[in-house]
Amino acid sequence: MVQYLQIASRARTELIDITAQVGELVRKSGVSSGVCHLFSLHSTGAITINEGADPAVRSVISRFLSSLVPVDGPFSHGEGNSDAHVKTSLVGPSETVIIEGGRILLGTWQAIFFCEFDGPRTRKVAVRISADD
Ligand code: ZN
Repeated sequence: MVQYLQIASRARTELIDITAQVGELVRKSGVSSGVCHLFSLHSTGAITINEGADPAVRSVISRFLSSLVPVDGPFSHGEGNSDAHVKTSLVGPSETVIIEGGRILLGTWQAIFFCEFDGPRTRKVAVRISADD
């Protein structure tokens, strides 16, 4: 069964910590051992896992991507959001996390982020939780 997370971004470029929402879906699923697939249903929004403890890290990632792919770069896509499309492909649309003991298995400092590259918008992430047999 597929479930959906709704995410409201507030800035054009923003890494939003969705670890708690994903953890809540896993808890409600009652699955103690398995995997949780996350998939962004957007061409200008991605998913990554990185440090969540220090907010400076998400700012570093966001700024680095913007320096790599500037918004005013020599791109031809008519909507004016070419940079957002390129950043989304660089980061990727999905992550898979392991479920162990009824909880998502992450390192001490890791968090799951939805990466907004053309906000503010309302976004959807598809979530599929599979139990081991
Ligand atoms: Zn576009």
